[in-house]
Amino acid sequence: MKLPTKKAIVLLSGGLDSTTILYYALSKGYKCNCIIFDYGQKHKKEINSAIKIAKLANVKYSLIKITLPWSKDVLTNKNKKVPIHKRLPRTVPPTYVLGRNTLFLSYALSFAQSINANNIFIGVNAVDFSNYPDCTPEFIKAYNNVLKSLKTKIIIQAPLLKLNKAQIIKLGTKLNVAYKNTWTCYNGFDKPCMQCDSCKLRAKGFKEAKIDDPTIIK
Ligand SMILES: [Zn+2]
Repeated sequence: MKLPTKKAIVLLSGGLDSTTILYYALSKGYKCNCIIFDYGQKHKKEINSAIKIAKLANVKYSLIKITLPWSKDVLTNKNKKVPIHKRLPRTVPPTYVLGRNTLFLSYALSFAQSINANNIFIGVNAVDFSNYPDCTPEFIKAYNNVLKSLKTKIIIQAPLLKLNKAQIIKLGTKLNVAYKNTWTCYNGFDKPCMQCDSCKLRAKGFKEAKIDDPTIIK
């Protein structure tokens, strides 16, 4: 008997975590449909990376534009600069985009229902992270309860949730993720700035995994 195709929606940002998640879902036999969001980021580096990654992985993708005219965060507000922290913030940092993952998952839910997909993959993790409130186990559990209350069979899968950055990189390396195509930096310069929280977390992960980051030219 032929098993039905497992369909999945993958939220793909073009960064390290979401790219690992795409490769993970593919390795588990899911037919993946990616959603790439343009939510008004000041630079297009990560969106361009996401499109390249989806094309190379030979999966379908939709580019969805969201407007957030009330944005206060430093990633979308053109008048604000990405801060440089000595240590990772313990409170919610100014790079947090208000409601971002809630919005993304709501789009994913709607898309999943339209194509009868029962799985939504999201690359959140709550170990080496920027202290965003929508990247926690509590948030994923609560959103899964929303999906249940809607009487859907859709579940959110977040297998990176409890992994640290080095474990994620090791997993991705086993899955042959082409990390050279990912863009992690909050800034959109020619090269990663190596000073923002996101660059620092990535560098820490590669160092602990004892793997060279292919985006860093020594
Ligand atoms: Zn950076």
